[in-house]
Amino acid sequence: MAAASARVDLDGKPIKPMTICMIGAGGFIGSHLCEKVLTETPHKILALDVYNDKIKHLLEGENASLAERIQFHRINIKHDSRLEGLIKMSDLVINLAAICTPADYNTRPLDTIYSNFIDALPVVKYCSENSKRLIHFSTCEVYGKTIGSFLPKDSPLREDPAYYILKEDESPCIFGSIEKQRWSYACAKQLIERLIYAEGAENGLEFTIVRPFNWIGPRMDFIPGIDGPSEGVPRVLACFSNALLRREPLKLVDGGQSQRTFIYIKDAIEAVMLMIENPARANGHIFNVGNPNNEVTVRQLAEMMSEIYAKVSGDQALQSPTVDISSKEFYGEGYDDSDKRIPDMTIINRQLGWNPKTSLWDLLESTLTYQHRTYAEAIKKVIAKPTAS
Ligand code: NAD
Ligand code: UDP
Repeated sequence: MAAASARVDLDGKPIKPMTICMIGAGGFIGSHLCEKVLTETPHKILALDVYNDKIKHLLEGENASLAERIQFHRINIKHDSRLEGLIKMSDLVINLAAICTPADYNTRPLDTIYSNFIDALPVVKYCSENSKRLIHFSTCEVYGKTIGSFLPKDSPLREDPAYYILKEDESPCIFGSIEKQRWSYACAKQLIERLIYAEGAENGLEFTIVRPFNWIGPRMDFIPGIDGPSEGVPRVLACFSNALLRREPLKLVDGGQSQRTFIYIKDAIEAVMLMIENPARANGHIFNVGNPNNEVTVRQLAEMMSEIYAKVSGDQALQSPTVDISSKEFYGEGYDDSDKRIPDMTIINRQLGWNPKTSLWDLLESTLTYQHRTYAEAIKKVIAKPTAS
């Protein structure tokens, strides 16, 4: 029996049960990571967040053996003296806390910079001072725009991967001007990455930095007017899901020409688990985590989601499923965009032997099935309600 339950790392060494301090555990990625850690490992979680709606099923679940290994602490890390004590009680700290919705970057740049840089400082400091390992969530947005985007539109070099593939140890970080406040997020994330890297170099901090490339799946963000503010603007998956549920056209910002690679949350969580349980292979590294095979333009994403949603809901797709909108009208002054995001996978492949598995079609099908099951009835009720005159 003992042999069957002995968990080993990629080098065949036994993995000791650990206590993980997960900051931002109540968010989209945190909820999936908590689920995975509790169901597949013996590790314990100290879950820190201001919200816990997305992990309530774990905290109050019928499965007591899961619930007894997770402890929720309602903490705003901006100002809470309990943070250092909780970090001291842990073997590993994972920091996911952030404002990370593009609609906020140009409209709430101060909150964005404080959240992604200033508020992360004590976490890094406590980890360094107490010799705790840190896995910090950064973003693919630190790459900014591709080098290729500055070439003439008809340049054949635009087809050369050297001009667009994003490599952790080689690619530059290219942001727009300061008035383009979109880049407040990327710039804050870049500076905290540099600080963590410097803590590693000068003070021996054991760290891993994760750069997610558009992770999507169930529980991402909110549906405006249902489980989030009516005027709120979530990330593209939830914006498009909301439109599909309401039978409204999907809004394509600046024609939907930007390109993204989307990865299924469950594939990405596998990569994070490997980082958690293989410190010798993950420490000191920055990892792209994405699916280079799932590239589409935002327009193609909208078309695909419309087709899949018609299939899972049984409703016919709209005759005109999309409508163009300018970025100024949709996001306001100071918006700008990443043109293309394809992750290079060399480092994560070499260190952790990890590869994504799920195709874009399959991940959208399971995610939209979830969205339909979770929200379709609630939307119908809201639409049926007479508006106050
Ligand atoms: P999310 O917004 O769903 O989760 C973030 C969580 O952090 C939220 O539950 C929020 O309440 C919590 N939080 C924020 N500020 C806090 C504070 N001061 N104190 C306590 N809790 C706080 O976002 P997510 O998609 O789960 O992203 C997690 C991390 O991954 C972020 O750092 C984000 O920048 C990064 N990231 C995610 C993606 C993606 O594809 N989802 C892409 C790039 C980067
Ligand atoms: N976008 C869009 N319509 C929407 C929401 C987003 O066209 O309703 C575009 C947005 O301009 C960007 C892409 O979709 O080009 C992805 O946006 P998201 O908010 O998911 O975050 P990003 O990948 O830019 O960090």
